[in-house]
Amino acid sequence: MRKISSPKVFQAEMRKLRERAKTIGFVPTMGALHDGHLALVRRARRENDIVAVSIFVNPAQFGPKEDFKRYPRTIGRDEKLLKNLKVDYLFHPTPKAMYPDSYALKISMGSPWVKDRLRKKFFPLLENLCGKYRPGHFEGVMAIVAKLLVLAQCHRTYFGQKDYQQAILIRRMIEDLHFDVIMKVLPTVRESDGLAMSSRNRYLSGDERRRAVALSRTLFWLRGQVRSGTRNILWLKREAARRLKPAVDKIQYFDIVDPQSLASLRRWQTEMVVLTACFVGKTRLIDNVTIKVKNQKS
Ligand code: AMP
Repeated sequence: MRKISSPKVFQAEMRKLRERAKTIGFVPTMGALHDGHLALVRRARRENDIVAVSIFVNPAQFGPKEDFKRYPRTIGRDEKLLKNLKVDYLFHPTPKAMYPDSYALKISMGSPWVKDRLRKKFFPLLENLCGKYRPGHFEGVMAIVAKLLVLAQCHRTYFGQKDYQQAILIRRMIEDLHFDVIMKVLPTVRESDGLAMSSRNRYLSGDERRRAVALSRTLFWLRGQVRSGTRNILWLKREAARRLKPAVDKIQYFDIVDPQSLASLRRWQTEMVVLTACFVGKTRLIDNVTIKVKNQKS
């Protein structure tokens, strides 16, 4: 595995590989790797000649009161894991290299064709869910992913469903900017009790870790209810929050939304996504499940 920290060198290397007709699979991460990340890497390994992984804790996607400084950095261990999976390139730039003082780009979302008032209601990609509680976060994510895709020049790029809103926004950006890349979104990898794997899980104390399982349990409970015929979305939302509340320290949001527009639903539909963000202790955890059902009770 070759480790590269210079954006220019990484870009030149990827260009050479493309010129030699190699297919490139690229997995962007912030490191502190776990099996969720490794599932993306394994898939990239199966589907491409060359696999590149980036590890970059992106300062632009953290709010001023968030955990940028504290975010786990375990580069030595990460390198070993990636070598074991036969990754070809690790791109590990410094913040200065990605954001020199002259850096000025901002990528946002907003349809020029739809009036703001209607957009918030029907197409709230950025305003709803995490977007509401982490101002600037997704702009930071989109900017870094755009930059990384321009550098990696990959054929396929791999993301996790764990960050559902992020995946939807990136897909929108890739399509809107005509990036020549296939984006794959893979299912959330979970611990054996259901907790979604996350680099932030290592912040949890023993007691918090035990309580954190309430997120996935509640989401699975809700999906079970819909599958067995419950159609009252507002009741389901209330009841789920009632179940979640005693286990967590704060529910930031718990919502059932349209899978594409992310608009909050008041009535059930055959395809929905249930998403939540909760604080357990001081740690903010997110999780989601998708639901697909037939029209009739099944
Ligand atoms: P991060 O390092 O947290 O920025 O995540 C890098 C990529 O790994 C993103 O596409 C995430 O959605 C994905 N990811 C994180 N956790 C999981 C998980 N538990 N299962 C699957 N993918 C994940």
